[in-house]
Amino acid sequence: MQQPVHDHDSGEGLAPVEEYRDDVLSSVEPLAPIELHLQEALGCVAARDVHAQEDMPSFSSSAMDGFAVRSADVAGASPESPVELRVAGRARIGRRPDATVGGGESIRIDTGAPVPAGADAVVPIEACLSSRETVRVLQPVSPGKHVRPAGEDATPGDLLVPAGRRLGAPELGVLAAAGHARMLVHPRPRVVVISTGDELIDPGQFPQFGEVRDSNAYTIFGAVRETGARPYLAGIVRDDVDAFREAIVSQLVQADAFISSGGVSVGEHDVVKRAFFKRGDVRFTRVAMQPGMPQAFGRIEGKPYFGLPGNPVSVFVSFEMFVRPALMKMAGRRNLERPQVTALLDTDVEGPEGKTVFARVRVTREEDGWHAASTGSRGSNLFTSVARSNGLAVIPPGIDRIEAGSQCRVILFRSLEDLAPCHRTTPRGRSRWGRRTSPPARPSPSAISG
Ligand code: AMP
Ligand code: MG
Repeated sequence: MQQPVHDHDSGEGLAPVEEYRDDVLSSVEPLAPIELHLQEALGCVAARDVHAQEDMPSFSSSAMDGFAVRSADVAGASPESPVELRVAGRARIGRRPDATVGGGESIRIDTGAPVPAGADAVVPIEACLSSRETVRVLQPVSPGKHVRPAGEDATPGDLLVPAGRRLGAPELGVLAAAGHARMLVHPRPRVVVISTGDELIDPGQFPQFGEVRDSNAYTIFGAVRETGARPYLAGIVRDDVDAFREAIVSQLVQADAFISSGGVSVGEHDVVKRAFFKRGDVRFTRVAMQPGMPQAFGRIEGKPYFGLPGNPVSVFVSFEMFVRPALMKMAGRRNLERPQVTALLDTDVEGPEGKTVFARVRVTREEDGWHAASTGSRGSNLFTSVARSNGLAVIPPGIDRIEAGSQCRVILFRSLEDLAPCHRTTPRGRSRWGRRTSPPARPSPSAISG
């Protein structure tokens, strides 16, 4: 199929970003659940509800060092008229108490030790005068005082971890407490990463004239890992159809998904296109976005395949928009969105009118709200600007520029702290890349959404 000739900057004939993203997302499914030990399950998504099957905690225990008593026995106790009780035994942590508490009796108890049968309260040691055989109680206690009852935290049937919850430290603790050493979760997708291009060399090599270090593999490696999935770098493949097919096929058994970069445009060396174009299972789409217009997506032997463009910034942005949410969905995650803020622009941002433009910006939190400033010009080969950014300002189709002083929607792709220290900053009110800005208007205080 020959691509019709279009004026791409007008957006004509291109697929809208949201439509393409929905398309990609609707064709991937959560991976089949497996049981993992809690240590491996951290960061994975629960594939079933877990309910309490027993009381948590399973026994009543003392919250104080003291004497387990019947509260009715000591109702009249005071320093002037202490109540004397026989010490019938001992309750130590981790053991069954060696006696029960009858009328006129008590048991010496430690913090955390099981409360003996017959007792309904604990008198702290400070309110007692004790000898070996007897204790004189100087204070009354109400029923239940200083006792942590069984089932106080959860009782059988209580929902502890819902299906769809990503397991973090609190969930691991709750599952362990409830006796689940293993947990049914969606596994981390295993993602094979391939770089295509005759010009590429490994980062440790020194380039001959015209050679380019393979940076995309590492960008994708980091981005995959940050979603919680497992990247496998399968190396550089030359622009040779058979080599490319062979590289993919040889990785099939260990892959849940494939990502390649480069070779998806219309050039005669565009190996991905030549390898898969004739087969119906990979589609090549021109998406109305900048950067990242050419995209390939489909299935190879049933496994999702993402063919990203070669330009490093395009790789980063298309991973953000399409691959990241897809891998998260495969991992069973339900909220696939990055946090977004409405920020006041300290510089202009601009791009082709017909496309959704994702401009690299540095977002800061100032006294008057969120601010964003461009970190470089638009070229999709200018990757160091990505490393200076923590956000992508979104210029919707139909607009070619948002001026400094206006508000703009910004996707935060990493936390503000992670960008520190900032090696190059844009002074407030002055733009490195735009014109001098007008005094910033007061933005309405905007909360993080999503
Ligand atoms: P392509 O989409 O294959 O035509 O590549 C577009 C541009 O991205 C070219 O300048 C390539 O040299 C560059 N490029 C492709 N793959 C990589 C890579 N793995 N690392 C860095 N640059 C790349
Ligand atoms: Mg190439």
